[in-house]
Amino acid sequence: MKLKLNGWDLNIVFSSCHFLAEHNKCSRLHGHNYGVHLTLEGDVDKTGLVMDFVVLKRALNEIIDDLDHKVMLPGNSPVTKVVIEGDQVTADSGAKHYSFPLEDVVILDLDAISAENLAYFILQRMKTIIDLPDNIHAIGIGVDEGKGQGAWIWEKL
Ligand SMILES: [Zn+2]
Repeated sequence: MKLKLNGWDLNIVFSSCHFLAEHNKCSRLHGHNYGVHLTLEGDVDKTGLVMDFVVLKRALNEIIDDLDHKVMLPGNSPVTKVVIEGDQVTADSGAKHYSFPLEDVVILDLDAISAENLAYFILQRMKTIIDLPDNIHAIGIGVDEGKGQGAWIWEKL
């Protein structure tokens, strides 16, 4: 059995900005409305459920709360140097130098802030937040950069 949560329909959505170093257009700071989706593959348990939707939605919302209305910066980039200096964060990317208030920034342990990497990040966070029961066989996370384009990651458990 497969469970599906559609972030656009459930308002599991966040609005944040990013840039992709060395990309022609996307190297300029810009924003997206991101929609986050989830699929679970598993067996129906004795209560008739694969897993409680409420628990899954709560966890996804907890994760995106940390990202919403933030400047997302890559903490592990080979080309963008991100440094916390007091209450400011600087990001140097090629000839570009950005400085942001620390409270407006979230630094993620990723090498780039792409939909692909955000899907990976959210999947890892889901596995730490939720104790997935034994009847779950696979989990998938999708992240859309606006409606109609996104990246999915699946993991067998
Ligand atoms: Zn973008």
